[in-house]
Amino acid sequence: MVHYVELPGDRRYPVVIESLAALPAWLERVGLRHGRLLLVTDENIARLHLEPLRAALEAAGWTPRVLVLPPGEPTKALPYLERIYDEALRWGIDRRTPVLAFGGGVIGDLAGFAAATLLRGLPLVQVPTTLIAQVDSAIGGKTGINHARGKNLIGAFHQPVLVFADPSLLQTLPVREWTSGLAEVVKHALIGDPALFALLEERWADVMQRDAALLPELISQAVAVKIRVVMQDEREAGLRAILNFGHTFGHAIERVAGYGHFTHGEAVALGMLAALWLSHRRHPDLPVDRIRTLLQRLPVPGSPDTLDFEALREAMQVDKKALAGRLRFVLLRRVGEAYVADDVTEAELRDAWQFVLESHRATVTS
Ligand code: NAD
Repeated sequence: MVHYVELPGDRRYPVVIESLAALPAWLERVGLRHGRLLLVTDENIARLHLEPLRAALEAAGWTPRVLVLPPGEPTKALPYLERIYDEALRWGIDRRTPVLAFGGGVIGDLAGFAAATLLRGLPLVQVPTTLIAQVDSAIGGKTGINHARGKNLIGAFHQPVLVFADPSLLQTLPVREWTSGLAEVVKHALIGDPALFALLEERWADVMQRDAALLPELISQAVAVKIRVVMQDEREAGLRAILNFGHTFGHAIERVAGYGHFTHGEAVALGMLAALWLSHRRHPDLPVDRIRTLLQRLPVPGSPDTLDFEALREAMQVDKKALAGRLRFVLLRRVGEAYVADDVTEAELRDAWQFVLESHRATVTS
């Protein structure tokens, strides 16, 4: 399956959903020059999936230089960026040497930023290996690293020349990474695709089991939503903000609970419940029970009721200051249609949080 991202100025790249064996042919098809290729990955992925990829690249005439970094969010930082720079420059690259990011969002963002900045820009190939990366982070050209003052504060837009997602790689993902990624898939369904929402409702058991026959279709539909949003708003001037559905509360939950307590996807799953409540108040026709049931199926271990509401509200204010404006929420008009609202009141925030806690409690006890 192939989708295309088409951007102003005749820029266009494929997002391919296929087995890794087909990657070398696609590298050729997008016009990359054979020869050296800088491959960045992390230790977990290297252990599980590197050798077949390396062999396939070598068999097709590539000379990959492999850089294996430690797994996890702390790798998305300056010291590891420097390691990539050092390794690449010592090895010898020129402006046509591709960088291949083989990993989740951490490797994709980090290696992507290295590609954006080395020699003022090298061709970037994203080969995402987590669900989040396949349906979200590898597509759209956002790259960057974290800073001690906050996440993703240093970065650049650098579109890849190819995104290549092999769904079979997801079979080895730890369960919590899988369900965390599913939150983003549910998010894509809610903001952009009623058919994907119906598919998730009907085939949830198969989705949780990572049914190999279902995965390509599931990923393809979620990818299509991301591509549509990116194509309409490459640089997040407006519409792209709808990808932040569930994130206003979600970011605050992550921060107040302490990073690592809830995964990003778990925090977003809770945040989407809050956004659902706010949406339903404005749009009573929204099928609130159906959406709530789907969101409740996303496992969220831990106890959000230990979080202090005032602390959450303050954490959201920090986001608000960063935006130099009012508190913004992405809300649903209907399944498949989202917009940004800035008229949410304090009282509503409190009620929305109660709805989150009740919904979560109902899942835990049911
Ligand atoms: P990650 O890259 O840290 O991967 C999660 C874990 O899964 C890691 O331990 C990794 O080693 C392991 N892993 C990866 N693939 C595996 C596989 N196939 N089998 C077994 N284990 C595997 O995290 P993530 O959730 O993929 O991405 C999160 C990052 O993405 C954050 O830094 C976030 O800011 C970023 N992000 C970026 C964008 C964007 O538009 N650029 C969008 C969303 C998120």
